[in-house]
Amino acid sequence: MKIILLGAPGAGKGTQAELICKKLNIPQISTGNIIRAALKAGTPVGLKAKSFMDAGKLVPDEVVIEIIQERLAEADCKNGYILDGFPRTIPQAEALEKMGIAIDKVIDIVVDDAEITERLSGRRVCDKCGATFHIKNNPSTAGEKCDKCDGNLIIRKDDMPETVQDRLKTYHEQTEPLEGYYNNKGILHTIVGKGDISDITAHVFKALEV
Ligand code: ADP
Ligand code: AMP
Repeated sequence: MKIILLGAPGAGKGTQAELICKKLNIPQISTGNIIRAALKAGTPVGLKAKSFMDAGKLVPDEVVIEIIQERLAEADCKNGYILDGFPRTIPQAEALEKMGIAIDKVIDIVVDDAEITERLSGRRVCDKCGATFHIKNNPSTAGEKCDKCDGNLIIRKDDMPETVQDRLKTYHEQTEPLEGYYNNKGILHTIVGKGDISDITAHVFKALEV
């Protein structure tokens, strides 16, 4: 199954992707994670993306499309995948189509801006394995450390309040139009993203019919 997770930054795409992956045994492809790894490794792609990412702007389409094209050609993608954070613009969605990729379902996780702002201010991520936590809603059982790998929990640079407002603006202007795009194709499933993580997962599984 080929699935797209759509939603604002902080809507819970990564949190849900992790749970869907486990259930369906398909990989989570997060362009954000790939770009952060490239940045950490100091690769040319990482360096190109840094200024955009730090400013809460989207990395140019051609850069992200190349990243996704390479990743989807890897062997673990042959039985399907969950796209988390891609596509984020209409040209990116069109590029997927041009690659001949038929998406089965698009899960749109809808959360209002006030809740997003609260969530991102409390988000903590493991600097070693990338696991995501929230200081109140989803804390690590190991306190300041990651309860999965003992890595350090950090605040993402782009989760600073001023950057979050820019990211939300970018989301509404450039990514939200994808709702109409996929609705027209009859594959959009809208899920209310506010509430217990496990309740939302149940709604996602229902929409996926798994
Ligand atoms: P995204 O991948 O869409 O940017 P995340 O999955 O990283 O979003 O979630 C953003 C933050 O909100 C994280 O700190 C996460 O722990 C928390 N979170 C995720 N789902 C929920 C939920 N249903 N209710 C409250 N907080 C949530
Ligand atoms: P995320 O981890 O999904 O919140 O993404 C973090 C940042 O990476 C975004 O704010 C963008 O700067 C960049 N990014 C991730 N995915 C994309 C994409 N599909 N298109 C453009 N930029 C992206």
